[in-house]
Amino acid sequence: MRKNIAAGNWKMNLNLDQSVELAHQVSKEQIPNDVEVILGVPYPFLYSCSLHTNQNNKVHLAAQNCNEHEKGAFTGEVSLDQLISVGVDYIIIGHSERRTIYGESDELLAQKIKTVLSKGLKVIFCCGEPLNIREGNKQEDFVANQLKNGLFNISAENLKSVIIAYEPIWAIGTGKTASPQQAQDMHAFIRNAVKNQYGEAASKEVSILYGGSVKPANAKDLFSNADVDGGLVGGASLKVESFVPIINSF
Ligand code: PEP
Repeated sequence: MRKNIAAGNWKMNLNLDQSVELAHQVSKEQIPNDVEVILGVPYPFLYSCSLHTNQNNKVHLAAQNCNEHEKGAFTGEVSLDQLISVGVDYIIIGHSERRTIYGESDELLAQKIKTVLSKGLKVIFCCGEPLNIREGNKQEDFVANQLKNGLFNISAENLKSVIIAYEPIWAIGTGKTASPQQAQDMHAFIRNAVKNQYGEAASKEVSILYGGSVKPANAKDLFSNADVDGGLVGGASLKVESFVPIINSF
C-alpha cells in the first residue's frame, strides 16, 4: 500500500553504541500516523537495533544488501534467512554504491529481488542516473532501463512488496539536491513506467522515495510533490536531530 516513508541508510557509519542509541531515540518518537520509518542499519548492529525498533510498530529495520543465494559457501556474505532471524523487514537493493563500487548488475539485482520476495521480505529498489546522463538529458531512458532489467520481471502481486527509491547519483552525498520539480518529474515518469508495466492501480499503490542530500531544510518541499512519497536519506539519517525533523516533514 502506498505510504509516506522516511528511510535512513546509515551505510558504513556508526559503531554499536551509536547505532543502538540512534535506533533507541528514533523508536521513542511519536511517528505521525501516516508515516512509516525504516532504518538501514549495518549488518553487525541489526539485532541490537531490532530490540529498540521492535518497541515501535511504525519503525522497521532494513539491511543494506543481501546475498542472492539461499545459503552455503559464500565467505563474508549474509543470507536472507540470517537477516530474517535478526528482525529485518526490508532489504535495500541496487543502491548506486553497490552498483558502481561493487559492480552489481541489473541481472544480479533481479536475482536478489527474487530471493528477497521468495522469503516474504520487502525490497527498497534504488535507481537513478549519474551526472553525465543527466547532463545529456537521458535520465528517463537510463532509469527506464534500470526498472525494466532490474525490477520489472516480478509479478504484480510481488510489486506490492516493493518500494522504489529514485536517487540521482549526482545528488547522493554531494549536498546537491534535485530540485522539487526535477524530483517530481522523475517520480511521475517512474510511476508512469509502473503503470505501463503493471496497470494504473499498481502505479497508484507503489511508494516512490527520493534520495540525494535530503535534509530537514528541503524535505518538506520535496515530499509535498504529488509523486514523492518520502525519502531515502543518507547523511541526515545519522543524527536524531536531523532525521526526526525529516520524519515530521510530510
Ligand atoms: C543515500 O545514501 O541513499 C543518500 C541519498 O545519501 P545522502 O542523503 O547522504 O545524499
